[in-house]
Amino acid sequence: MKVAVIGSSHGGYEAVRGVLHDFPDAQIDWYEKGDFVSFLSCGMELYLQGVVKDVNSVSYATVPGMEAKGVHVHINSEVTAIDPDAHRMTVVEVQSGRDTTAEYDKLILAVGAVPFKLPVPGKELKNVYAMRGRDWAIKLKQASVDPTIKNVTVVGSGYIGIEAAESFAKAGMHVTIIDLNPTILGTYLDSEFTDILQDELTAQNVELRLSQSVKEYVGNDHGAVKSVISTTGSTWPADLVIETAGIRPATKWLADVIDLDEHGMIKTNEYQQTSQPDIFAAGDATEVEFAPTGKKQLIALATNARRQGRSAAYNLEEQRRKTTAVSGSSALHVFSYKFASTGVKDVTAATVGAKIESVFLKDTVVPPFVPESHNAPVYFKLSFDPETRTIMGAQIMSTMDVTANINAISLALQQHLTIDDLAYADFFFQPGFDRPWNIMNVAAQKAQDKLD
Ligand code: FAD
Repeated sequence: MKVAVIGSSHGGYEAVRGVLHDFPDAQIDWYEKGDFVSFLSCGMELYLQGVVKDVNSVSYATVPGMEAKGVHVHINSEVTAIDPDAHRMTVVEVQSGRDTTAEYDKLILAVGAVPFKLPVPGKELKNVYAMRGRDWAIKLKQASVDPTIKNVTVVGSGYIGIEAAESFAKAGMHVTIIDLNPTILGTYLDSEFTDILQDELTAQNVELRLSQSVKEYVGNDHGAVKSVISTTGSTWPADLVIETAGIRPATKWLADVIDLDEHGMIKTNEYQQTSQPDIFAAGDATEVEFAPTGKKQLIALATNARRQGRSAAYNLEEQRRKTTAVSGSSALHVFSYKFASTGVKDVTAATVGAKIESVFLKDTVVPPFVPESHNAPVYFKLSFDPETRTIMGAQIMSTMDVTANINAISLALQQHLTIDDLAYADFFFQPGFDRPWNIMNVAAQKAQDKLD
């Protein structure tokens, strides 16, 4: 069997690994239009902050390493057209522009997404950057040590925007975050958490300009950005703009090949199969089933791309195992705070069509007798369906790392457990780690009190 995989990030890498595992006799051709395989944008912040020194190490695979496993790796090779009836593709060699054809029996698309570029005057100015992929990582790193850059504007306050802001603030620059939403991290956390994080950012010299959008980037005589004008009419200086205002699927070229939805997302079934039975898809160009609602939506995470890539490989020859529904779990640090969240929050309930109630707790991570040097406040919020009592989501935050609790809630969401299952669930206690009642128990007990 000839298997072609397009795209070498999380979805593509996992698909290749899966095919190697499940079909050791298959011929695998792996296409990547960039000059590098398997760059992990997730590791970009560690690179920008100097924790990881070599940009090329932010990767799970190398060309020689994968070729040693028998994979035919084609970098600088953009697939530009697919003829699904003939099982044939056009591959363009990026530098020379020369095209060739290649054949496949099964094809896995892991083409991912590209950063959304704001359609505002000045968008083409130098120093308007994005934050995704190795090329941007290198440019951003150079900018982070450029002494002429004093003021940085980050557009968007999702987790990528916060990573950008923290990296450049730590590099000594004055950072302004602009976001259309009234709070930062609008799809990750409710206001009980963002109020604290916004104060933390302000204390770290990160300026917040919320409930407004970019109206225009103003350039200097050298064609570089010099200031930003917002929709509220205010203007501030900017030597660098980093746009992190969402992504768009890299699928325009596929419109006549497979079914796409109105946003250009590739439609797949639960086996990652597209409308063409021999073409599968995984990653940020597809939607995932959101466990709390059972509906499909875009949750652009490496974890999801990995799961789907694995599933695509597994189901190549027959429909063997459905892709697991996901909870949308993610974690991040914002200077001294670490948070994680999963499922539905008050801020997202209306968008995902869920009716929830919530309880919010502030406690200490370990028993109060443990001194501050080994203890800290912890904030936890549990959301549930008031009619069925099903757990719908949770958020946790502290300066200590308590984020792993959210993985337990994520599993509860996938299994559709109720607050009654969680209220007396058996979690360990050790005073160096937590309390006799884990905060998840306490929150679920409080939720029971609220409903009973
Ligand atoms: P992409 O990463 O979008 O990659 C697609 C690849 O396909 C690219 O290499 C592209 O060059 C190639 N390609 C596209 N079209 C073609 C073509 N026609 N021919 C050949 N090659 C093609 N997720 C987490 O779970 N945790 C994190 O901590 C996290 N941190 C992140 C931090 C940043 C800064 C960013 C930007 C993202 C982060 N993510 C994180 C999200 C995660 O990186 C994405 O969900 C993931 O990369 C999606 O993988 P993908 O395979 O769908 O495609």
